[in-house]
Amino acid sequence: MHFPIPQEVEDILNRFAENGYEAYAVGGCVRDVLLGRVPNDWDVTTSAHPEETMRIFADRRVLKTGLKHGTVTILSGNLPVEVTTFRVDGAYSDGRHPDFVSFTGKLEEDLARRDFTVNAMAYRPQTGLVDCFGGREDLNRKIIRCVGDPDKRYKEDGLRILRALRFASTLGFSLEKNTAESAVRNRGLIDRIASERVRVEFVKLLCGKSAAENLRNYREVIAQFIPEIRPAFDFDQKNPHHRYDVWEHTIHSIETVEPEPVLRLTMFLHDLGKPMCFTQSADGVGHFYGHPKKSAELAKQILKRLRFDKKTENTVLTLVSNHDLPLLPQERSLRKRLNVLGEQNLRLLLKVEEADAKGKGTDKDTYLESLAEVPSVLQRIIEQRQCFQLKDLAVNGEDLIKAGIPEGKAVGKTLQYLLNVVLDGKCANSKQELLMLLQKEGRIH
Ligand code: ATP
Ligand code: MG
Repeated sequence: MHFPIPQEVEDILNRFAENGYEAYAVGGCVRDVLLGRVPNDWDVTTSAHPEETMRIFADRRVLKTGLKHGTVTILSGNLPVEVTTFRVDGAYSDGRHPDFVSFTGKLEEDLARRDFTVNAMAYRPQTGLVDCFGGREDLNRKIIRCVGDPDKRYKEDGLRILRALRFASTLGFSLEKNTAESAVRNRGLIDRIASERVRVEFVKLLCGKSAAENLRNYREVIAQFIPEIRPAFDFDQKNPHHRYDVWEHTIHSIETVEPEPVLRLTMFLHDLGKPMCFTQSADGVGHFYGHPKKSAELAKQILKRLRFDKKTENTVLTLVSNHDLPLLPQERSLRKRLNVLGEQNLRLLLKVEEADAKGKGTDKDTYLESLAEVPSVLQRIIEQRQCFQLKDLAVNGEDLIKAGIPEGKAVGKTLQYLLNVVLDGKCANSKQELLMLLQKEGRIH
């Protein structure tokens, strides 16, 4: 079997062997190599205790990253390698952490504590692959299966429920039947897990290639920590522009947008306010006036609860609140959008609106055709350095004071007035013309 392994990792495994210890690459990196993917990180498991590892690698930088759990990190060139002693976990009385961990001399026992068969394989060049739980076969069949009894494994650590969905989504796998049914049955266990850990798995799930399928099949698991999605389930929009109910539309828009956390989160959240804003006109057609604002309120509550960073929160809330704002391929209206949103957010909003329109599932959407023309107009505005913010304006506060505007509030107000005139295309952005305009209007003499 060809098993490519970075030189740094091989050196570490060899040095352990030379010193009489067993050591293997283990977990995610073995899974990824077997799948032909490049691993995110390399983990090593060894029979050596941490203090022995530190002694063997005394000539290297070794960080005591998780000494209590038997983990140290060896810095090998640019590649940090986490090295953990073979470990068995004690009882999990809180559903989150083992009460204690103890070291073992047996690799098989260490593999048995790992979450899924595909994550419970080890490899070393000297002896090849160690696969005690059929991980390789599950990889071939694209199956996520708990090591051991799923009920027991989820009760030990409820996060594994979300990890199962996350791996299914990122790898494009399915959950084995018992692993799936137990995940749904035991979803209440997620309540005990720290929000930060839930967030990490949720974002990976959302950005995975099978996000749609997993959001659809496991909506009750997701609703366990984001109950705000429940009203969207099966909510008939009674609107000819929408082929799907609110939740299905949400899922379609998620799978349409590129797998960037901010964009996927925005699509996940953008219509959650719809059920609360639903009205029907006399002809029976459904409307959702004010739903972007309502969705933004719910989004804020969710993002805060899951402890997203402030930057993500701000960007997502801007996108959710504005997702219905028309973006037309016209310089004048785009300059105004640029003024309010800034270039970066406007470009994101464009992607959001495109995914939203595509996710409606109706055949011909003239708005989509018009959206497609926006980027070239936007490019022209940027390349020509057209004015769309106060700092681009050809006059500044000092110019206005010199021209006779009294110092104080009037200066700011006049600048804003001139900016609006320029955004509207009613006056060129030149100092002379702007001052002339003020004169003509009697604002200066
Ligand atoms: P990624 O590619 O996202 O890093 P990974 O499989 O390496 O995926 P990690 O969270 O880095 O996942 O964990 C490394 C390994 O540790 C896993 O492959 C698995 O063997 C084990 N592991 C991690 N978290 C758990 C858990 N909650 N319960 C049991 N085993 C776990
Ligand atoms: Mg990893």
